[in-house]
Amino acid sequence: MQADPTEQRRLLDLAAVDKNLAGLAHRRRTIPQLAELESNQAELTASERELGEVTTTRSDLTRDMDRLESDIDNVRNRQERNQQRLDSGAVSASKDLEALQHENATLRRRQQTLEDQEIELMEQAETLDAQIEKITAARDEIAARRGTAEGERDDQWAQLDVEIADEQTKRDTLAASFAADLLGLYDKIRATGVPGAALITQGRCGGCRMELSGSELAAVRSAAPNDVVRCESCRCIQVRTTESGL
Ligand SMILES: [Zn+2]
Repeated sequence: MQADPTEQRRLLDLAAVDKNLAGLAHRRRTIPQLAELESNQAELTASERELGEVTTTRSDLTRDMDRLESDIDNVRNRQERNQQRLDSGAVSASKDLEALQHENATLRRRQQTLEDQEIELMEQAETLDAQIEKITAARDEIAARRGTAEGERDDQWAQLDVEIADEQTKRDTLAASFAADLLGLYDKIRATGVPGAALITQGRCGGCRMELSGSELAAVRSAAPNDVVRCESCRCIQVRTTESGL
């Protein structure tokens, strides 16, 4: 490819803007808040899982307590009915009286056992409620930190986006000033992850920092000023100026 040496040199301006844009994009991807948010998300997930587990255990306990409560009610009602029969005088045979009294004694013991169990469950419930409160507070604190980090991230991004937009405008204006084929080649090279164009300085390629071999130097030296010369290592367009040490 052929291009005016001045236009070739101007590729360095474009490469400088592209380097700035790449730097800004890198900063946007690596602002500290992103790492913070990532670890925060892990914390939040763990905290919410823990909360879910304890809440489920607590719900199961509520169900057990309700069942126990209803068992206690049944035992109490049964005792009351027996007592009413005893008090009414309707049961007179001593054998029947004895059976009723015996049943009530059994029911009282049963009631006591159930009430003891209920106290135990209430104690467990208290422990779980305290745990839920503690985990909820921790979760809320993590969520609050998340909100702060998100706000900071958005501020940083907004600032960077202004810089990126400015630089992109500069890039668009500059790019429009090049011949389509030269710009096309430059962009194609840049898409491979190396600078599209770089200056040769002191016998070194500015794109890959490789020293040019004797034969490469000879080829560059003998190339016409209009020739578009490419690095044999990184394939970038090699811009030659008086600083190139040729
Ligand atoms: Zn190179």
